[in-house]
Amino acid sequence: MEPSSQVDFFIVGAGFSGLVAAERLSQAGFTCVVVDKRDHVGGNAYDCYDEAGVLIHPYGPHYFRSNSARIVAYLSQFTEWHEVSYQIKSFTKGRFWSFPINLNTFEEWLGRESSELEWRDYLDTHKVEIEHPQNSEEVILSQVGWDFYRIFFEPYTLKQWKRHPRELQASVCGRIPIRLNRDDRYLTESFQAMPVEGYTAMFEKMMAHSPNLQVRLGVDYKDEQKNWQYRHMIFTGPIDEYYDHCYGSLPYRSLRFERETHSGEELRARAAISGKEGLWQPALQVNYPDLDVTYTRTVEIKHATGQKIDATTVIREFPEDWTPEKEPFYPVPTDITAQLYTRYRQLADQETNVSFIGRLGTYRYYNMDQVTGMALTEAEKLIQRYQSVS
Ligand code: FAD
Ligand code: UDP
Repeated sequence: MEPSSQVDFFIVGAGFSGLVAAERLSQAGFTCVVVDKRDHVGGNAYDCYDEAGVLIHPYGPHYFRSNSARIVAYLSQFTEWHEVSYQIKSFTKGRFWSFPINLNTFEEWLGRESSELEWRDYLDTHKVEIEHPQNSEEVILSQVGWDFYRIFFEPYTLKQWKRHPRELQASVCGRIPIRLNRDDRYLTESFQAMPVEGYTAMFEKMMAHSPNLQVRLGVDYKDEQKNWQYRHMIFTGPIDEYYDHCYGSLPYRSLRFERETHSGEELRARAAISGKEGLWQPALQVNYPDLDVTYTRTVEIKHATGQKIDATTVIREFPEDWTPEKEPFYPVPTDITAQLYTRYRQLADQETNVSFIGRLGTYRYYNMDQVTGMALTEAEKLIQRYQSVS
């Protein structure tokens, strides 16, 4: 069949990477089509209202954060922000703990009050001397030592990744801060906020700001590709899938989500436990490191959205092995997978009219701001290249 339509850019994936690239390119005067096999835009950052009217993150919680003024300024064209101090807790040994590990956690562990001085002394005598941590076990041991590693990191990581922290690159557990003071914010970035109306509303504004953009949802790019003639493809799906797994499959971790909604009446009865009016659990996110609990965390996103509604929804996350029918939520950052990815990257580097970006296109455990930055940079490069030839 002859291609029926012509565009400058054929973009696979309507997540952050694909839509940011599409917006920039179409603003520069290029025609784009974005194709996604899901029936909605937003990729994993998609949010929506559930049956009770609660704004939820169906693919896991998405806490926007960034140190980049450029990325925040770019996204701010499409949304206003609701500042949030993301706070989480860990639940183990029958109680809630302050998390990420900080002076409060140390006091909870001691069962009495302490001081920054004592906590610092503890760390100095218990942390393991490792100058250049090479993996996720070493990165935590080198900061807090065995006791806290064994309570909060080793079992949680085994459960989440089905791999020992020793097998995972240092960047995985190294994402989690360890603090000497009582600062219990989950994240460290200077800008921490959520789009006021949610991510999907932000993406809709982004698309409305994209002249000459067509979007095809609910279709695999392999089926749609033949209908289009294009100058360049931007691919944000899994890079190994693009190359038909010719070097073998890259591993991914998947997740299963279970949802429970609670009415206003249930919330009022619960107030003593959550300690917060209109909320079910004491924090936005509760992590469950213990291996005999099959889920890793429960998230009540209403803490972060600040939605005013007489109900709430809590989502429980169960890590799962990835199979081709499931979403490849996490690339698995080990030295072995990095080597396999490098082989695919070498193929990608030889392409003249295909760009690979995003979490799956580059097989990197990137956050939303990082993939936004990557898409902005790639779009700038493509604009220069194709403007000079058109
Ligand atoms: P994706 O959002 O994965 O989009 C890729 C799109 O390509 C998907 O929609 C997919 O359907 C589509 N696609 C794939 N293959 C095909 C095909 N064959 N044909 C057509 N379409 C295809 N980041 C943060 O900054 N803060 C957080 O708190 C945070 N929490 C997270 C929690 C979880 C559980 C997960 C999984 C990720 C989290 N992230 C978070 C990371 C964030 O989701 C990513 O950085 C971001 O969404 C990546 O955007 P993307 O466009 O690169 O990829
Ligand atoms: N982690 C852990 N215990 C926790 C929280 C995190 O061991 O209570 C480890 C785990 O390996 C996890 C990684 O740190 O995958 C990064 O945690 P983060 O909360 O950033 O995970 P994400 O939100 O990306 O799933």
